[in-house]
Amino acid sequence: MAELTATVTCTAFGAVEEVTGELVPARLLAERVGLLAALTQHMTAAMVAARWNDGDLATLGSKVGPDGRALPAKGWMALRRLGWASVAPEGVYLPDRVRRVAEEAAARALRLAVHRRAVVHAIVGSWPADPRRRTDGEWAALRGRLPQGVDNAEIRNRTRQIRAYTTDHGGRLPACLTELEAAPRTGGMVLLAAADKQLVTIQRTGPDTAVLRVKLPLIEPPAAPARWAWYTIQLALPGHVPTDARLCVPTLRVVGGPVRVDLPWRTSVPSVAGAGHTVALGLDWGVNTLLTGTVGKLADTSTGTRVVSDGRMLRFDATGVSAKLHRLRGNREQVAARRDHYARLLVRLPASDPNGQRVLLQAKHAVLAAEHQRICDRIRRLNHALAWAAARWAVDQASALGATVIFVEDLATLEARGRRSGNARLSGQVRGRVVEAIRYLAARAGIATVTVPARGTSKLCPRCGAVLLHTPAPDRTRERGWKWAVCCSCGLANDRDHAASERIVARGLLAQAHVRTDPKTGHHATTIVVEGNVARARRPKRRTRAARRAARGAVPGRPRNHRHPPSRPRIRPAPHTPRRVPDRRAVPAPATSMIAGKRPAGQAPQTDPYPRVGVESGPACDRPPRPGRFRRPGTVWGFHRAVRATDVLPLGDYGPPSHTATPTRNA
Ligand SMILES: [Zn+2]
Repeated sequence: MAELTATVTCTAFGAVEEVTGELVPARLLAERVGLLAALTQHMTAAMVAARWNDGDLATLGSKVGPDGRALPAKGWMALRRLGWASVAPEGVYLPDRVRRVAEEAAARALRLAVHRRAVVHAIVGSWPADPRRRTDGEWAALRGRLPQGVDNAEIRNRTRQIRAYTTDHGGRLPACLTELEAAPRTGGMVLLAAADKQLVTIQRTGPDTAVLRVKLPLIEPPAAPARWAWYTIQLALPGHVPTDARLCVPTLRVVGGPVRVDLPWRTSVPSVAGAGHTVALGLDWGVNTLLTGTVGKLADTSTGTRVVSDGRMLRFDATGVSAKLHRLRGNREQVAARRDHYARLLVRLPASDPNGQRVLLQAKHAVLAAEHQRICDRIRRLNHALAWAAARWAVDQASALGATVIFVEDLATLEARGRRSGNARLSGQVRGRVVEAIRYLAARAGIATVTVPARGTSKLCPRCGAVLLHTPAPDRTRERGWKWAVCCSCGLANDRDHAASERIVARGLLAQAHVRTDPKTGHHATTIVVEGNVARARRPKRRTRAARRAARGAVPGRPRNHRHPPSRPRIRPAPHTPRRVPDRRAVPAPATSMIAGKRPAGQAPQTDPYPRVGVESGPACDRPPRPGRFRRPGTVWGFHRAVRATDVLPLGDYGPPSHTATPTRNA
């Protein structure tokens, strides 16, 4: 059995003080949680600032205490072992558990910095001649120095940061992380996970209710133990938390409203092995098309065991969302630039403000700062929705098609591909979140997730292994392009991402003997590339009624007149369908329209289904509205309209029977 952890966010709409029985409304509760958050944030910031130097980060990164023993896994215990304990502010009584909470937050921030320090050291140690484009040798040197699990987006961002530093400092590289950036700010949240039942308890009281008890300060500053009190908070759990889930100690946040309770819960699922699978779903990352998939299986054919696919392309097309994200990012940059411009003007203005310019500028700056935060929140929510929608779709496809494993490209080995200057590229961060979401949802569905090496998946033909030619479209084979793959050896013509996803299925299914499982995270990864070709077999068609009757030996058509039976029954042979899908296709399938479904038969409607009369208010209402002035309800941008995805259809088996023995390479 494996443990799965998820988090739900509940809202605390009020509490009861245990001793007095006083009802505490949501606003007062938020104030008191805010007091606790401010106390711990202050202590955490002081601890992180005191240890923000390369030597202390190296000490923490060595994972060995001063006594030679390994440091404990719990952050606050590790800091206490190192003698970096927190100090309570002057005149404040702090329970030891509150100090633990602050120390845990500091330890997490410092441990993240330890990871970033290693990445910066690796990049600085293998600084390329041209930081915009590394050669293969420079990539290899960098990979040799990096810690495990660093993906391409992180490398790119750090490289940009270091490049900006060298530009500002006359070509000098930074010596360490602490020279490159200031100590991180810590968020105003209370990590109760570091405390025990002397500060917090959580108990489930029903299928959808739980009770949180927590000790909070009554006033600022809480100078004595009597200034702390226990509060009971009733929480309503959402319906998707299973009744047998175990609740963990939550984290409290105050973000301008009632207290948010981030409540982790755990559940056990049967662990799925990374190897021994026959049917698999392979997923390829696209530039704007987020995911392109293929289902493949190991099958016994006349030439031995090989990977067979049904030739059906599964696609999660997020071009609409991607374009929206691109617009939002541009908007964010503009707003940030103007906000920073106002900030610079404010610094230059004299403190005395006879004309009221300063007040005016401050108001403008505040508006832009709020707008910037709003756009950032919007981007974050959109990324989150996109990642989970894509993962849900992928896992549903795998379940419907009987796949027991999902193969995705390893983001750590995924090189930056596609037009770098092109707009609307989905960020690497979204991909990381999609992989995390797929891992979680697949584990709940009893499906394994295995990463395969990403290099060269779209280089070779999935049918014969020859080098593919990439063209912009199937009818422009003489031009170099991106979207379409043509094989000069076997004549394959296919969508680039679809061809790559077939190679990914083959790499995953054929290299199952080389799957390694990380003992810490339980993640499965294929470390060795085993290339194999993919054959295509058509799914059997359901026979028509006439064909079924013919197979039974019955007379086709209507029942005949009994007085004049036909001299001999006309038996049509069952229609023969070739089992192989043609590899050569002249044109791509036409793109589906934005709104799914077919137009009903008949003349195309010419009338406007959304008449705009009466939309305008006021005296102008008498005039006919100007054309194109108002949006129709159907053209409002929405997430569900901006994403197009292949329907999830539970289809049966296809091609030769599935295989159970060891696969052979290029059979
Ligand atoms: Zn080929």
